[in-house]
Amino acid sequence: MMKTMQTVVLEDASQKAILEDTLSRMSSAQNFVVDVCYESEDTNTFRVHHKTYRKLRQDFGLPSQLAVVANKYACASVKTSIKRKGRKPVFSGKSIHYDARSCTINLEKSVVSLLTIKGRIKVKFEIPKYFKQFVGWKAKESNLVKCRDGKFRLMVSIERTSIKSKKTGRIIAIDRGINNLIATSDGWLYESRHVWEIKQHYVSLRSRLHSKGTRSAKRHLAKMRGRERRFMRDVNHCISRRLIGSAGKDGVIVLEKLNGIRDAKHRHEQNWLFSNWAFYQLEHFLIYKGEETGVAIEFVPAKDTSKTCSACGSLRRGQRQGSAFRCKACGVVLHADLNAAKNILHKYHADGLLSTSLLLPKGLSKPFISMDGS
Ligand SMILES: [Zn+2]
Repeated sequence: MMKTMQTVVLEDASQKAILEDTLSRMSSAQNFVVDVCYESEDTNTFRVHHKTYRKLRQDFGLPSQLAVVANKYACASVKTSIKRKGRKPVFSGKSIHYDARSCTINLEKSVVSLLTIKGRIKVKFEIPKYFKQFVGWKAKESNLVKCRDGKFRLMVSIERTSIKSKKTGRIIAIDRGINNLIATSDGWLYESRHVWEIKQHYVSLRSRLHSKGTRSAKRHLAKMRGRERRFMRDVNHCISRRLIGSAGKDGVIVLEKLNGIRDAKHRHEQNWLFSNWAFYQLEHFLIYKGEETGVAIEFVPAKDTSKTCSACGSLRRGQRQGSAFRCKACGVVLHADLNAAKNILHKYHADGLLSTSLLLPKGLSKPFISMDGS
């Protein structure tokens, strides 16, 4: 996944002069390369490089790597322009593209080393609040831009570093539901009552505003939609953070395939209060936070996870009564959602993804998902 992080360069007066000089020198150099392209009717970077390199170094005073960059982007822009039957491109000295060789970015320390006509200079930059969350990502290349307000900005292309889980750590299975947004195989419940109440509040507010129908009511409605979305996103961020933290590096989080929630288990409970997108969003957050921390996200089919006894494997109708699960075979009484989470965990082990003998509950010699013909 790539993103562009916009940062504000905090150059001092002498650095500002160097950057400005470099920008203008680069643009005249690039305009020179453009001329060469048109005169020789050639846009091949490699061939044009041989025609222009010495001049770019000697006459324009560019360091070797900037000469390479100048040539490369001038050729590219001529190529695009010819393709689109456009005019001859003109570089106006407002930006320089830096590749990995001509600039080194340290996001954590907010400092960049930029190649200029006076050699490399180290400049501090400021990361706006929104982009601070991406400081752990890997910086690739960047664009130094002189904006209309006279400030230099460094647009940094960043890539998320992903860590592969060895799947040797903790395994947590998760049941997603209506009464509890989350129930985990190790016993954590995230009750949905609080979420329901807030959602209900929004629903009643919405219907009141709808019936009003005035312009200010419409404005309020739009604002509210945003607030409601942000609220749910915060809940999902909070849950996913906690789950990923609890699984830890090289851990595994097991989920049911989402269509299970839509089709089988909660068909009756499916309503306006809890649409699938919230579940999908949680899944998405888990996947990307998992990649950042080295936690694998695995999926198992949702079939029968809420009807099966996680202690003995019996699958019968009517064992689930509200939030309680009473097994008709072994008599055990369990929390229904935690029971489902345990079944999801058993399914994961039964899939043969891991050697599971040590991880199964005592007294069970084999995964019991296959018992009772299920
Ligand atoms: Zn049982």
